[in-house]
Amino acid sequence: MTRYIDVNDLSQLVRRKGLPACLSEMAEYIRQDYLRWADFEKCARLANHSPDGVIELMPVSDAALYAFKYVNGHPKNTQAGMLTVMAFGALGDVDTGTPVLLSEMTLTTAIRTAATSVLAARYLARQDARSMALIGNGSQSEFQALAFHTVLGINEIRLFDIDPQATDKLVRNLAGYPNLKLIRASSVADAVRGADIVTTVTADKANATILTPQMIEPGMHLNAVGGDCPGKTELHRDIVERARVIVEYEPQSRIEGEIQQMPADSPTTEFWQVVNGQAAGRENDAQVTLFDSVGFALEDYSALRYVLDVARALEIGSEIALVPELDDPKDLFALLRQPAPLKKTA
Ligand code: NAD
Repeated sequence: MTRYIDVNDLSQLVRRKGLPACLSEMAEYIRQDYLRWADFEKCARLANHSPDGVIELMPVSDAALYAFKYVNGHPKNTQAGMLTVMAFGALGDVDTGTPVLLSEMTLTTAIRTAATSVLAARYLARQDARSMALIGNGSQSEFQALAFHTVLGINEIRLFDIDPQATDKLVRNLAGYPNLKLIRASSVADAVRGADIVTTVTADKANATILTPQMIEPGMHLNAVGGDCPGKTELHRDIVERARVIVEYEPQSRIEGEIQQMPADSPTTEFWQVVNGQAAGRENDAQVTLFDSVGFALEDYSALRYVLDVARALEIGSEIALVPELDDPKDLFALLRQPAPLKKTA
């Protein structure tokens, strides 16, 4: 049987654990897996593009588990009442190919992306960072805000979105965190001015220049989350050229990240090298650091591993007959001889 976690199960799991605990514990799972970088069979994700969006498959495996995620990115979806990003994924047992877990991954992706962002900022932001600008206040934004507040101690966040209602929603959703000061800015420049960290998490299938060079101050850490597809970037090229750039997996980031704007041999460092101490993170307090995030399959592997461990511990989810279990493994036809009950047990 395969454990099945639907959206309601995952929501329940996060409510029972508490989102801050999920963010910090998932960040630790991700860190542990980045430390084992060489153990993984990796590839850039497979992307099928259409005029308004993309659907991607993200596989990765080690000697024990295989993981994949199906995820889309359709920035115009919100105008039709649908999410920009939706996802589901699975874990399989490498020895036998048996699917172990089938899970929702829309909520999981928001948590894993925020957990990855904050993990990267631990190595790349200045130690004394206390404020952040958050540009783009859509679905991912509360998760980013809470990760930086609860894990990294960022107590002031300056908000900007071209849609003021998105910012209203963020402020409403985070009203229960009294030590988090949320400030509405009048423009991107107003939000960014004086911030220690700048997170861009906008959605637009375009080479946007959300951040321009004159906005960037010495010592800033840039957490660029929204540019994650060919032709979909958020930063002016000159910012990328001057910053210390950290990427997740270079072959994928060259295609999808902010560095798609740069020559193929522009200097970058992969995040795993920073995590295991082979390369420096931030080199000095005046340096501008850029985490050029696109989302890598390894982070989803970690997220699914975390979800499975917590779901088992809290007995959340159901067991489903996703693949046949037969008395005679050569007799698949047996399934047609008698009506097999389709199981979904609590
Ligand atoms: P969303 O559509 O819910 O929110 C995006 C927000 O950006 C909207 O509120 C929109 O009004 C705002 N926006 C668009 N253009 C803007 C601009 N020029 N200035 C300010 N705000 C602007 O989308 P979401 O689910 O929050 O995702 C945001 C982005 O993050 C998407 O591009 C998505 O592909 C990306 N993403 C990346 C990762 C990763 O791992 N790097 C993971 C998940 C999502």
